[in-house]
Amino acid sequence: MPPEDPAVRAEAVLSAFERHANPGQARVFRFMGLVNFEAEAHGAWVRDVAGQEYLDCASGYGVMGPGYGHPAVVAAVQEQLTKQAMSSRVLLSEPTARLAERLAGLAPGDLEYCFFCNSGAEAVEGALKFARVTTGRPGFVAALGAFHGKTFGALSVSGRDVYRRPFEPLLPGVTHVPFGDAAALDRAVGPGTAAVILEPIQGEGGVILPPDGYLAAAREICDRAGALLILDEVQTGMGRTGRLFACEHWGVVPDLMCLAKALGGGVMPIGAVVGTERAFSFFAAAPLLHTSTFGGNPLACAAALATLEVMEREDLPGQAARKGARLLGRLADLAARYPRTVREVRGKGLMIGLEMTREGAGGALMASLLARRVLAVHTLNNERVIRVMPPLVITDAELDRATAAFTDALAEVDAVVEEL
Ligand code: PLP
Repeated sequence: MPPEDPAVRAEAVLSAFERHANPGQARVFRFMGLVNFEAEAHGAWVRDVAGQEYLDCASGYGVMGPGYGHPAVVAAVQEQLTKQAMSSRVLLSEPTARLAERLAGLAPGDLEYCFFCNSGAEAVEGALKFARVTTGRPGFVAALGAFHGKTFGALSVSGRDVYRRPFEPLLPGVTHVPFGDAAALDRAVGPGTAAVILEPIQGEGGVILPPDGYLAAAREICDRAGALLILDEVQTGMGRTGRLFACEHWGVVPDLMCLAKALGGGVMPIGAVVGTERAFSFFAAAPLLHTSTFGGNPLACAAALATLEVMEREDLPGQAARKGARLLGRLADLAARYPRTVREVRGKGLMIGLEMTREGAGGALMASLLARRVLAVHTLNNERVIRVMPPLVITDAELDRATAAFTDALAEVDAVVEEL
């Protein structure tokens, strides 16, 4: 049989997706001219079926810490695959226990126990349940603009109406307060609060950094009220912000920390709740009170173990800090050149957001970058902010290339910004 023409194959794939998966999203792909599906990816590059290469500054929403297909992570998964992919669930699995031990060793303070699951939202669900069972209290305090995932519990503590309203009623007893306002947090936390849940830096909210002292104040407020502090490091964790965990920038240790995304090194999906002895003590009496069939499976744990090794060996947090400072400086120079178009550039490490002066400018910048073969995408809870989150292994030459694309794309958008 002759090989299928890539263009024919591309149209067949898009129309299959349109007819049987998500017609609305397929329309967006067509509108953006993204008619070719991704076929291969290595390091910081994604190649589509037509052979077009894109420099990825989105990293699958922060998944590709060590880059696409890091050889050490792939090798670890391949080796595990030949031995045992999934667990019997009756016998103990070595990679699960080894990963728990390793993560407990790396996590700050007295975070010593791990529960493994398969995604960020699931990690948040687990943390919310652990907080309730530990404190015997029903309530949660979360931040406006927060994003914690789209399952019911995670959505209930997320802070954007457009995703919440169609699914109401959500979990009762959730109060939202402005992110960064310690006095508002203090007023909202009370004797019925099981936990405060915060992202150390809001990701989908538009890369919002906390004022210095905010996370420490949150810790103190929780301690005073007998509530737990949950830090959602699903996006900020695993070196992205220049430290292995973002809470380390402010020296704050939560009771429960949620991880996912880059924990699997961009090769396997895995999530984790990492917590104190107290927050995990309910397992002593009821080991099956919270479970997941696939959570902690050998393949995902092998990927996470290899990822943690790569993080350390290649000092990916240090690389993120160094490269991020350079990129932030360059983007800030560009922002100063185009004040009509860019309101602000902010971030930490390689978690950077470009806030545009209007929503249309965000879309236009994305399209202009795409035309220059650079992938970047807006944040979910704030379409005016384009995130710049390349794999942490991106080289200096690739960063130069990304900066050049941003320079040209911003000039292009600025020329028409009044019409957007
Ligand atoms: N928490 C944070 C901070 C996130 O950024 C995300 C996803 O973007 C989630 C939770 C949900 O993760 P997942 O999409 O893996 O469920």
